[in-house]
Amino acid sequence: MTNAKLQARKTKVVARGQGNLYPIYVDHAKNSEIWDVEGNRFIDFGAGIAVCNTGHSHPKVVAAAKAQLDKFSHTCIMVNPYEVGVELAEKLTDIAPGDSDKKAIFVSTGAEAVENCVKIARAHTGRRGVIAFNGGFHGRTNLTMALTGKITPYKNLFGPFPGDIFHAPFPIECHDISVKASLKAVENLFKVDIAPSDVAAIIVEPIQGEGGFYAAPVEFLQALRAICDEHGIVLIADEIQTGFGRTGKMFCCEHSGIEPDLITMAKGIGGFPIAAVVGKSHIMDAPLPGGLGGTYGGSPVACAAALAVLNVIEEESLVSRSAQIGAIFNDRLSQLQTQYPSLIGDVRNQGSMIAIELFKDGDSEQPNTELTQAIIANAAKYGLVLLACGFYSNVIRFLPPLTISDETVNEGLDQFSKLFDHV
Ligand code: PLP
Repeated sequence: MTNAKLQARKTKVVARGQGNLYPIYVDHAKNSEIWDVEGNRFIDFGAGIAVCNTGHSHPKVVAAAKAQLDKFSHTCIMVNPYEVGVELAEKLTDIAPGDSDKKAIFVSTGAEAVENCVKIARAHTGRRGVIAFNGGFHGRTNLTMALTGKITPYKNLFGPFPGDIFHAPFPIECHDISVKASLKAVENLFKVDIAPSDVAAIIVEPIQGEGGFYAAPVEFLQALRAICDEHGIVLIADEIQTGFGRTGKMFCCEHSGIEPDLITMAKGIGGFPIAAVVGKSHIMDAPLPGGLGGTYGGSPVACAAALAVLNVIEEESLVSRSAQIGAIFNDRLSQLQTQYPSLIGDVRNQGSMIAIELFKDGDSEQPNTELTQAIIANAAKYGLVLLACGFYSNVIRFLPPLTISDETVNEGLDQFSKLFDHV
């Protein structure tokens, strides 16, 4: 079988809305490497979009999932629950930031986790409004599209969207959007669009993921915490991309010392479809029994794998390793920036959430979407899997598995620098 033949078969039967970035069909994957059906090897700098924090097919995760499959694969946690689900809830409520008593619920996708946060916040407050931030990404379901800032390809063609969602600018220093300006915009929303006493929740990504890997400044997150405390608003941290060691802390909010009321968790928890909302118990318990979750939420196989992932993160010290990996990337990408100052603008990272921004003629006002797309498209020829992000899709993001070796990071970055040879 060849990649081309599989792509032709796929194009006939899978709608283009679920298109693929690379026409590379995976045969198998191990740790930070992927092999396609033609036997080609790729270094995975995307980790399945921040999912495979413990690498592909970690033996301990595989063993845990297999052992659970041998026992039973599904009963529905809302019909006949199981210990592995209780254990995962215990673990997640234990590692979530802050000292409050916490509870968890399980769903299957990140978008569902966000939807459930909004439901919980509305049930708790009896209010309707939700404030989100420009450039944010929260999913592809109807409500999460409404919360999402970026229009193409996530929102156009898909309206109308649910109401009562309001947006403010996200502070981005390198784009001259100050914390003060963002907070002023929130204040203006309160004056003009919705009274704070009608706002159920403010949702924020501590680092915007799809939006371009922009970290929310510490003082911004602390100010949002204070606003929410003042007005009885639920603060939701969307840690779907930033969680589970990705940023050099178990959860990104820990960098700012804030305790959100609710946190969304998904991606790096497993490699199986599982997501969770973890939050303060008195808020989490607002919905009535049966109001949250779904048939597959908290699948026992996914719970067993997630517990194994959490053990591996601990045993292999992957949270601190994440910071080390990020430092290597940052050093090498900064060197590349000095080599190509007219193309590479900002180089930034928090742990292993690493990005470079591409511009035209060294002008930060001119995002270079075309070059970014060309580099992403050519990456496979150089044995790399890379991802883009950003409002103008001019950011190359690196989300390596946290189990990647220094040697593989350096090999991948050698290949990456070759992508600039011909531009
Ligand atoms: N929220 C954030 C911050 C994300 O990065 C994503 C996915 O990229 C989502 C929500 C949606 O998650 P899912 O694709 O699992 O629905």
